[in-house]
Amino acid sequence: MEKEFKELPLIPLRGITIFPYMVLHFDVGRQKSILALEEAMLNGQEIYLVTQKDARMEEPEPEDIFTIGTVCNIKQLLKLPGDTVRVLVEGVKRAKLSSYIQQDPFYKVNVEIIDEVDSIPNKKCEALIRTVKDSFDEYIKLTGTMPADILLTLDDIESPGRLADIVSSYLVLRQDKKQELLEAYEIDKRLDKLLILMKNEIEILKIEKKIGVRVKNKIDKVQKDYYLREQLKAIQEELGEDDEDKKEVNRYKSRINKAKLPKYVKEKALYELERLKGTGGYSAEGNVIKTYLDWIIDLPWNNQTEDNYDIKKARKILDDEHYGLKDVKDRIVEYLAVKKMNESLKGPILCLVGPPGVGKTSIARSVAKALNRNFVRMSLGGLRDEAEIRGHRKTYVGAIPGRIIYGMKQAKSKNPLFLLDEIDKMSNDFRGDPADALLEVLDAEQNSTFRDHYLELEMDLSNVMFITTANTLDTIPRPLLDRMEIIEVSGYTYEEKLHIAKNHLVPKQLKENGINDKSIKFTDSGIKLIIDSYTRESGVRSLERRIGSVIRKALTDMLENDKKTCSITANLVKKYLGSEIYTYDKIDKDDKVGVVTGMAWTAYGGDTLPVEASIMDGNGKLELTGQLGDVMQESARAAFSYVRAHAYEYGIDNEFYKNKDIHIHAPEGAVPKDGPSAGVTMVTALVSALSGKKVKHNVAMTGEITLTGRVLPIGGLKEKCLAAHRVGIDTVIVPKDNKRDVEKIPEAIKEKLKFLFASDIDFVLKNALLEDTNNVN
Ligand code: ADP
Repeated sequence: MEKEFKELPLIPLRGITIFPYMVLHFDVGRQKSILALEEAMLNGQEIYLVTQKDARMEEPEPEDIFTIGTVCNIKQLLKLPGDTVRVLVEGVKRAKLSSYIQQDPFYKVNVEIIDEVDSIPNKKCEALIRTVKDSFDEYIKLTGTMPADILLTLDDIESPGRLADIVSSYLVLRQDKKQELLEAYEIDKRLDKLLILMKNEIEILKIEKKIGVRVKNKIDKVQKDYYLREQLKAIQEELGEDDEDKKEVNRYKSRINKAKLPKYVKEKALYELERLKGTGGYSAEGNVIKTYLDWIIDLPWNNQTEDNYDIKKARKILDDEHYGLKDVKDRIVEYLAVKKMNESLKGPILCLVGPPGVGKTSIARSVAKALNRNFVRMSLGGLRDEAEIRGHRKTYVGAIPGRIIYGMKQAKSKNPLFLLDEIDKMSNDFRGDPADALLEVLDAEQNSTFRDHYLELEMDLSNVMFITTANTLDTIPRPLLDRMEIIEVSGYTYEEKLHIAKNHLVPKQLKENGINDKSIKFTDSGIKLIIDSYTRESGVRSLERRIGSVIRKALTDMLENDKKTCSITANLVKKYLGSEIYTYDKIDKDDKVGVVTGMAWTAYGGDTLPVEASIMDGNGKLELTGQLGDVMQESARAAFSYVRAHAYEYGIDNEFYKNKDIHIHAPEGAVPKDGPSAGVTMVTALVSALSGKKVKHNVAMTGEITLTGRVLPIGGLKEKCLAAHRVGIDTVIVPKDNKRDVEKIPEAIKEKLKFLFASDIDFVLKNALLEDTNNVN
């Protein structure tokens, strides 16, 4: 077949490809192209249109232009404002660029027309046509942007090549793909390519659609929520709740303005108020904000009470309300005196240590009264979570501030007396150590900027006077202990208790039970009996409780029997309180072998601790019973070793550890006992049991021992002596190094107790054991 050539002007196309049979208009602006158009109009209106490789190129050279294009007929020209011409063309035939005739002033080229020959067998042709049409149908439906009647125009096309060209012109494809379709002269290859491209596009469109649905669903939900919210607003407006919200916001605003808030707090409050406006008071978020605002508005940021500097008045208040407790009272008065001179003095952190019921809490209350400060109390007992001190972050559901801030709110002033009770009973676990947080609270250097997790605002605690209480110093973390001034409050003697009961507890209990006249009176013997037989304590807490219950019983008695007055005698006490609970004085009046009275000191005050030793035939076993702690067991072993080493001196069989079993027991087994001060007691019990010498029943002892027999000093002497005196002991053997502590023991006790100071165990044994086994003291 002969090849057909034509000389035609050329326009490079940017971003479009023209297929045969395709009608299309585009704008021509480049000078070279306009000249080419003009040339075409003069010569049969035919033009060669071919795509340039890079659409952005302004002046493409021959090598920038593809070599396969389309010969087109110019149907229409339209001059647009400026130098642009809009041209309508119809693709006629594919043509291959064979050579450039000229490049200036416009491109003129020689092209070879490509004639199409349908070379496909009929059946295959039909099949391909159908497949193309079906795919194109699916494609149109998926795009959703093309008119469906395009398909109708395809109905009567029988030439597969033509069909392919028309379909290609509708597809939205990348430029290079379109060019590939144009360059496919052979019809079966063109159809194959077209089908592959279409299938590919269909897949992509399907995925896009899926994503689209998902995105749309999301957007729909947002729109739905918005719509519902708007409706809710409208309903609230109808119900007048919106109004209510506004009123609430205004109420908060005026509270914020009235409260004396520091600038940074006020700013935060106003910021939260803005947020409240946005959420509405009925939402969950709104409630959280309101609670938070309540907290910061109610805290005493700037409220302060005026300290009382009248030292005489303060002393009187302290003395009136409490008997004794001289150290605490002196320290407070001292503080006042110094503070009077130097206003900026920081409050001391006092730690009152002593057994329960000795008045630690109540003296703190009196101190607050004496200083004219508000009083708050917080118990630290069992506290194990740092957040209890410092609060939970607001992001937690139901978060609240820590107890310090809670206490400050209760205090209503920024300089209260803050009592931290039971600081020795704190513990820690995985949630953090509350002691660390407490350190910050108590540290004068840091507590001016105490930050609670919930508040997220710094609060100045430097004006707070902290007083802490504890039963024992042993369990208080060292760093905390270092920051506090320790004041020991010890137990009371019998006489002191009587005095406190008469002057404080009885009047207080009468008042609490609503008796203001003098109808009920306590006799001394009545009170003494309560102290003796119904209480066994270092403090006066049970005493106070018993007095309370006697008063209530007396009151009932008076009402039932029409009595006007009642004088509480010992007999009445017995009648009201039932049989005696404790029988003191009740140390054995007999001297016994192997039974020794030790003196012990626990967090609950002093007590006597009997130790028994008994010997039986055996093979040298040492048995310890009576809930002895580790330290006590060690003392027992040390005592055992000492006795073994010195058996000869005390007339004990040298071989006793081979053929005797020894059992040491501390009765009242339910009470756990520990501490090193039972060393001397154990040795005495052992020597007595092994030698058969009796122990004097009126002697009690305390002291730690070394393996060489030295007696080491112990703690809590005063409490121990009080306890020994309570049970009727008249001689105490105590370590020589504790001599200086005897000063602290009340005169009344000192007068009645004979003190023997031991530096070694030999001295103890000499004074505790009776030489003659038959001699009864
Ligand atoms: P603590 O805190 O040491 O356990 P409390 O302060 O609870 O003891 O005291 C118990 C009760 O005993 C209180 O009612 C207290 O007023 C009273 N009390 C304790 N010691 C004295 C005292 N020295 N003078 C007057 N009352 C006292």
